[in-house]
Amino acid sequence: MDSRAKPETTIAGIAASPGIAYGQVFVYLQSAVEVPSYLVEPAKRLGEVGRFERALVVTRQQVGKIKHEVERNIGPEEAAIFDAHLMVLDDPALIGETIREFETTGLNIETCFQKVASRYAKAFAAFEDKFLAERAVDLRDVAQRVLKNLLGQSETSLSHLAGQRIIVASDISPSESATLDRSAALALALNSGSKTSHAAIVARSMRIPSVVGLHNLTGRVQNGDWAIVDGYDGLVILNPTESTLFRYGKIEARKKSFEARLLEANREPAVTLDGAAVTLLANIEKAEECAAAKNYRADGVGLYRTEFLFLSGTHIPTEEEQFAAYKAAVEAMAPQPVIIRTLDIGGDKPMAGKSDLFPKENNPFMGFRAIRFCLEHPEIFKDQLRAILRASAYGRARIMYPMISGAGELARANAVLAECREELKARRVPFDASLEVGTMIEIPSAASTADLLAKQCAFFSIGTNDLIQYLLAIDRVNDRIAHLYEPTHPAVIRTLRHIVQEGHARRIPVGVCGEMAGDPVFAPLLLGLGVDSLSMSASWLPAVRYLVRAMTMADARALADEALALESPAEIYARCDAFYRARVKLD
Ligand code: PEP
Ligand code: MG
Repeated sequence: MDSRAKPETTIAGIAASPGIAYGQVFVYLQSAVEVPSYLVEPAKRLGEVGRFERALVVTRQQVGKIKHEVERNIGPEEAAIFDAHLMVLDDPALIGETIREFETTGLNIETCFQKVASRYAKAFAAFEDKFLAERAVDLRDVAQRVLKNLLGQSETSLSHLAGQRIIVASDISPSESATLDRSAALALALNSGSKTSHAAIVARSMRIPSVVGLHNLTGRVQNGDWAIVDGYDGLVILNPTESTLFRYGKIEARKKSFEARLLEANREPAVTLDGAAVTLLANIEKAEECAAAKNYRADGVGLYRTEFLFLSGTHIPTEEEQFAAYKAAVEAMAPQPVIIRTLDIGGDKPMAGKSDLFPKENNPFMGFRAIRFCLEHPEIFKDQLRAILRASAYGRARIMYPMISGAGELARANAVLAECREELKARRVPFDASLEVGTMIEIPSAASTADLLAKQCAFFSIGTNDLIQYLLAIDRVNDRIAHLYEPTHPAVIRTLRHIVQEGHARRIPVGVCGEMAGDPVFAPLLLGLGVDSLSMSASWLPAVRYLVRAMTMADARALADEALALESPAEIYARCDAFYRARVKLD
């Protein structure tokens, strides 16, 4: 059936990245393969074993090819993991047991193979020995491939799409987003996630219209269905009618003309009507994004999330590799500053395939993440710190630590940095001796002890994404409770005020680099609370700059005072929204 003959359905989710896209859907099912279970007729039993053997042969060929490509493009060490996959495919016990299971039950070979493979994977996972436990991951990976081949499903990847498509998936991991084919991805529509999940942040930095938190969307669409993704209002419209398409065409034209107006205004300085200059910075994940940051006239980079370097490859990047990336960013932005955040891996940015370094955790957001990881792996931390210090000789670099929870941790991080400085000095390697070191304030304990932290660093940058999640105990990537993730909760406003006051009392600047900073509804509130700089995905800069130019700082302060006196998140939000709407008109 032509999907355009299907009824139109609108599904509401969470707007994650602005823009509107219309096109055909590609359902990306990276998760477990759906395996049908049925009895095989006696006449077809012989053929069933043959089918299994052919699937194993095809899988071996596929894995061999990937291994070869990885060997050529990345290196033999990284390719070795596929030897483990090939070993699984040749394992006589696994194959023999699958055939025996089939002979006794008469069930289709996919069902038998899945059962045996998952029994093996469980047994491996239970081993104390890390090497053996890791085989469980290999086994599951290969088993998925074999099952896909048995079921005639093609290999799925986001790096080569057949044409321009709207990608519908349950979720997208950081490494998948790293290899996403930007020219072919029209839009993203994901079952899970929230405004501050990693996939949403990446989508914004790649400027891909996106809606997340769509629950069971993958179960409601098929490859080839037509859809509109409305990244402004957080809607996905399946099989839109002609009249909806017409309406959306008009909305898009209006938004485009508004965006053109914003871009026009973006050439002007970010100064309020009463003459206060506001520092607007860009968040980046890769050095190449400095081009967009400059294009949008950012005053520098306020947050370089360096974990991308670690997530896009299969190995921990060396000091040299990191140095090249940081140097490129610092040089591209010079003379403006680049705040390079040290590694923040874990949480919604897990590092795959390194289970020796990152053991599986029940609660990764409260686990072995960011600075905790770095302080326990000084060799990895020091490689990064030396790489940043060396890059500082080529422009204006600053260092910032993520997830600092108290003064002791900050002192330990600074001590490791001091060692790196000494090592470079001894080797006569140049670096900027006056390089400033700051800390993110994104854990409530850091907020409460901001006075102590301020004694040991040169600036604060508030990570509202995590700060809100930890203050309100709302998992930032859980779409079921996304509505409770409230940036205007009085606890958030009071905490922000406290951090700013403590920072300023000790004469250090306080910025915000969480998603709140790039939202024009919240930016005036932050500025009114006394925040010195706002750092955001480069594509938000025009909208925030436009608003800054349309408001007075005196009004922003009054808004903040009003917000501090209000009791409910909804009331505070309404005031912020009214402030915004009174100054920015779409038409
Ligand atoms: C934050 O927590 O607000 C932040 C900017 O860091 P990330 O989103 O990378 O955790
Ligand atoms: Mg954070």
